[in-house]
Order: sequence, then C-alpha cells, then structure tokens
Amino acid sequence: MTAPDRYGVMGYPIAHSRSPVIHRLFALQTEQNLQYDLIQVEPGELESAVRQFQREGGKGLNITTPHKGDAALLADELSDRARVAGAVNTLLVKDGELFGDNTDGAGLVRDLKSNQELELKGSHILILGAGGATRGILGPLIAEEPAQIVIGNRTVPKADALVMHFSDGVPIKACRFQNVPRNMEFDLVINATSASLKGEAPPYPESVISDKTVCYDLSYGLAPTPFSTWAKKHGASRSLMGWGMLVEQAAESFELWRGQRPDTKVILDQLEVNAL
Ligand code: NDP
Repeated sequence: MTAPDRYGVMGYPIAHSRSPVIHRLFALQTEQNLQYDLIQVEPGELESAVRQFQREGGKGLNITTPHKGDAALLADELSDRARVAGAVNTLLVKDGELFGDNTDGAGLVRDLKSNQELELKGSHILILGAGGATRGILGPLIAEEPAQIVIGNRTVPKADALVMHFSDGVPIKACRFQNVPRNMEFDLVINATSASLKGEAPPYPESVISDKTVCYDLSYGLAPTPFSTWAKKHGASRSLMGWGMLVEQAAESFELWRGQRPDTKVILDQLEVNAL
C-alpha cells in the first residue's frame, strides 16, 4: 500500500481540535488514503511551519486561531472568498504553490440553513468577536441578505475595520459588548470570540436575548461551552455549539483537497453532537 497523503491543522492552542477525527471519518467514508495530524504552531511561526510541511511533501492544511490572517499573506493564490475575508482556513499545496481558501463562512451558513433550518434573509444578527473567524463568516452571511448585522468586540477598532471592509449591501455597525443596542431584538447571536479557549468570560450583553433568539457558539466542546450555558440561562430559544460548522467547513476543505464531498449528515450522526 502506498504511503498516505499528509494533511493537518495548524493553530495555537490546538490540542482541543476535533478536525483529525472528522477528516479520518471523511477518509473512511470516501475510501481515501490520508493522514491528518494536529500541528501546534506558536504565534509568529506559521511561515516556517508551513514551509517545513511543504518540504516534507504535505498536501494540504487547515489553519486555525491565531494564524488565519498570516496564512492569507502566505498563500500564492487566494479564492475569492478568502480574498474578501483576508483570512485563510484551508491551504492546498499544488505544484509547489499554496492555494488559500476560506471555508468557514460557507460551513456556518450551510449548518444554519440546512442542518438548523434557520431563515437568514431579513434577520437581525449580532456577532460577538472580530477576529479571523468573523472575517471568514461575514461575506457569506451578508450574501444571505440579513436585515442588519452588529459586531460587538472588546477592541472596537478591529470591529470598525470589518465594518469598513464589508460595508456594501447590508447595514452593519460596530460597538463594544457593553454598547450593543438594548432596544433591538436579535434573531441570531453568534459568539465568535476565542474567550472560552482561554477560560475567559467576556461581558456578553444579556439584554439582546429574547425567547426568539438563536444563540450559536462557534466554539464547541463535549460539554456545553460557557457561552452556550450563558445563552440557555438567559432564555435563548436555542443554544447551539459550532459542531455543525466544524463538520461543514471541514467537508468544504476535504472537497478542495480530494475532489470528493463527504456526506456530513452521517458524520454528524456518528459524532452524536446534535444531542449535546
Ligand atoms: P481570533 O484569535 O482571530 O479572534 C479572537 C476574537 O475573540 C477577537 O475578537 C478577540 O477580541 C476575542 N476575544 C478573545 N478573548 C476575549 C475575551 N476574554 N473577552 C472578549 N473578547 C475576547 O480567533 P478566531 O476568530 O480565529 O476564532 C474565534 C473562535 O471561533 C475560536 O474559539 C475558534 O475555535 C472558533 N472557530 C470555530 C470554527 C468552527 O468550525 N466551529 C471555525 C472557526 C473558528 P479582541 O479583538 O479584543 O482581541
């Protein structure tokens, strides 16, 4: 048997990532001979780690916190959605060159619409956090024509920069967590901060949650995340974690690398995460 093609995910921290399990399940389902590893890469070390991976014959990478912006700068060519996002979560090594894509937004929208059956058109959306993940999801969310998007972030200039960048099409504004409009009902509140990875709990604005609000934490865990517990406690209609997005964005990456799209429903059932 030939050696498996090598893939992996680079990030910091990385031990929590479930991407290896998901890609191994995809590989089994589609009968692909591949290996997928966790690769811890400290901030500022992405370029040397990617170059080493290329030298060793690696075929493709997922890139996660905090390296998505750096990966966009490193890629020789970008997909349209990665260029718009200025963030890359998927690298394909092709003829010695790096092609960068961003599958986060497509993964989230597919989970929200197909798996969770949410209507995004005309909805009011609050996004907490303005890092690489928010950059990745904004374009695809805006394409769904929500009525408004508000971005709340600890560091307001970072949210302001996103508003400037994505100002075409949908009304979008930025503010601090504490200044999220209290008189506005949100249909969807997305937690795109990495606070829970560090065991931190920012001052999430509880006034925005009504019994019609769906809360979606991009972070995920085998136990409820601090944000999903907070959302339930404050009366959200549904409190979801980012397992569906994780599996859907992984399927997009897998298709880019291997030319075959796995059946994500089977994998979500195998992971039994819908029951969490
Ligand atoms: P980044 O490091 O790029 O951005 C982190 C964001 O979190 C910033 O807006 C930062 O605010 C904010 N933040 C961090 N700590 C705190 C805190 N204590 N209080 C308030 N705000 C805080 O991370 P990413 O955008 O790449 O990832 C964000 C999260 O999304 C991660 O948990 C990641 O695992 C998850 N994710 C999940 C995916 C999935 O498929 N389910 C896909 C992609 C990401 P500031 O700007 O002030 O520093």
